Amino acid sequence: MKIDVNLDALWACVNRMETENLAFDHSLDSPKGKQIALDDLESCQQLICLSGRQVSLFIPDHGPRMGEVIARGEMGKRFHVAHCRTLEEIKRNGRSERYHANANLDGEFEIHGDNALGRPDQGIARLTVCTDCLDLLNYRGVANANVSAAKRNEIVENFNIREFFSTYSSLFEYHAPTSDDEAKGYTPDWSDISRAARKEAGHMCQSCHVNLSSYGFLLHVHHRNGVRHDNAEANLAVLCADCYRRQPKHDHRHIRHMQMRTLNRVRRRQGIIPQASSWNDALKYADPALGGLLEHGRSKDFDAPEVAYEIINNEGHVTALELAWPKSKYGVYIDRDKPEAPAGWEVYPLEKAMHYFRQR
Ligand SMILES: [Zn+2]
Ligand SMILES: [Zn+2]
Repeated sequence: MKIDVNLDALWACVNRMETENLAFDHSLDSPKGKQIALDDLESCQQLICLSGRQVSLFIPDHGPRMGEVIARGEMGKRFHVAHCRTLEEIKRNGRSERYHANANLDGEFEIHGDNALGRPDQGIARLTVCTDCLDLLNYRGVANANVSAAKRNEIVENFNIREFFSTYSSLFEYHAPTSDDEAKGYTPDWSDISRAARKEAGHMCQSCHVNLSSYGFLLHVHHRNGVRHDNAEANLAVLCADCYRRQPKHDHRHIRHMQMRTLNRVRRRQGIIPQASSWNDALKYADPALGGLLEHGRSKDFDAPEVAYEIINNEGHVTALELAWPKSKYGVYIDRDKPEAPAGWEVYPLEKAMHYFRQR
């Protein structure tokens, strides 16, 4: 029996509740962000978390170099996106520099210091990301042994905070509600056009081909050229939430862990995620938050894992592991709570698995 439930209304309700109920702290979205004590920060799989949100960390005070740094962000103090060794060392030494946290998706940081006349001033700088942070996460495989210096530079230079936050969005409990800016640019008839496009596509993602007729809330319509009022048929692509957020140079929307998990369960059941997986399949379908781990494994010639592998625990509950090596009964999860695994299995959180893969 096929159970066909439309969860769109429920999902809209969840989104609304979240936006209404949380006294959302919008100060974090501004380039200025807010001053924090390093002890206020939590670690979420090594990323920097403040009250359930992903943030970057920077030092606003640039003293007499402020003007130079506003003109050339790469001359400034680097911002952190993970609990890297530099940040840990600063914490240990109790250095008293004042840090601000922000979640500004345009990559802007408000810094202050002295202007050319020696007077206190402030401005917006486009600072560069800390490479120790990217190494720790093995972001885009930056720490792989076979990566050339040129490729490393390219990864750092092309670093885009919007893309970075989207990559790890499923790990965080709270995301900023869609801003007015993000909602701008659509034509008034967009919801009709979008609905018609999804119907025309048979409710199937045109990239990974997952059929989402029972999961409409996971299907989006994307403007290929990024122009939201250009509704020409050739400019529209019907995409699942995961393929949608992976589109280069566009919105880099956030996705929730529950959405990603549902999507991969459906992909797996529809045979889109193959049972005997390759590294390419793993990188294509696994939550991109696991990308650094997968890049480590691939570069070290480990066996490729299976994605969204279902295990049944001793009480008969079915849980999907993000990654699993069924032959060796080894699995990786990113939920807050450790899934109950059947006897003989060892399951590790992403952070632990990263540590293990890095050492090998
Ligand atoms: Zn760092
Ligand atoms: Zn897709």
